[in-house]
Amino acid sequence: MTRFSLMQTPAPPGVGESCLRRQLPRHDCEACVTVCPVQAITATATTPTLNALDCLQCGRCLFVCPADALQNIRPETRHFTASTLVAPFSTLAPSVDELLMWHQQHGIRAVEMELEAFPGWVRAVAALNIRLRALNTPAWQILPPRQKAINTARRHFIKASEVDVQSTTVSIGRRARRQAFSALSEYQLSLDQAQCTVCGACARVCGERALSLGEGALTFSSSSCTGCNSCAVVCPVNAVRIDRQLGDNRVLRFSWRQKTCRCCQREFYTFSDKVERCFICLRHTYDMREA
Ligand code: SF4
Ligand code: SF4
Ligand code: SF4
Repeated sequence: MTRFSLMQTPAPPGVGESCLRRQLPRHDCEACVTVCPVQAITATATTPTLNALDCLQCGRCLFVCPADALQNIRPETRHFTASTLVAPFSTLAPSVDELLMWHQQHGIRAVEMELEAFPGWVRAVAALNIRLRALNTPAWQILPPRQKAINTARRHFIKASEVDVQSTTVSIGRRARRQAFSALSEYQLSLDQAQCTVCGACARVCGERALSLGEGALTFSSSSCTGCNSCAVVCPVNAVRIDRQLGDNRVLRFSWRQKTCRCCQREFYTFSDKVERCFICLRHTYDMREA
């Protein structure tokens, strides 16, 4: 039988192996570094380092990581009745990314709080409403509190309607956000078809299967793309670009064809009918690689 010690110290927060900077040496993801309010994460050349002593466990980094790589950090537990967040509130305001998940996962449309007491929350809700407007979705309201903060220690004194408070967290990570907002896309791909050699590196690295290389076509499905940028990082000819752009879901299909190089007689792939020489021969002086 396993014995658990009550004195066991929790594992410190950190960055796991799935971090894109660890997976791909050239990756320059700084999403967690940028949102951390206390600079607890620093990005070195290869891996980000999380200083556990500085970390507030606020969970902001969790919502922006495209690889779910942050470890031993839990999103804040919040409290709600029907479609309203209620007290007690965290002193540190939530990020807009987290509030978006509350909007979509639990149907929250309001916060019940004293405006003067939580200016950070008021700013967060205002920023959220700007994002919701862009999504054509109803904005949140800030309502005056109907009652004092729910004190779970005196639940037996509270009226039935007050007891209806639920406490939970929301899903973290960009993949979860994509699933929650699956009707819209956040990222779009541009492909430089003149540069692309159809090597398939981008499709192989895409963990979300947003990019796939099948018979006759390279396909991009914007609904699955989390904007991790790995495809652009691994492309050897810089033919891929990912831009943050809200819009309807799109499936882009780039049809390629197999041809024989007029110069070296080797087979190659291209999107263009007009190209007659493979990409290697195109980079050499004419006839240098002739078969
Ligand atoms: S939980 Fe908050 S304080 Fe800790 S590393 Fe993440 S963003 Fe920074
Ligand atoms: S956001 Fe995630 S993938 Fe990006 S650097 Fe931080 S831990 Fe790594
Ligand atoms: S298409 Fe590129 S940016 Fe989008 S999820 Fe795949 S690898 Fe990441």
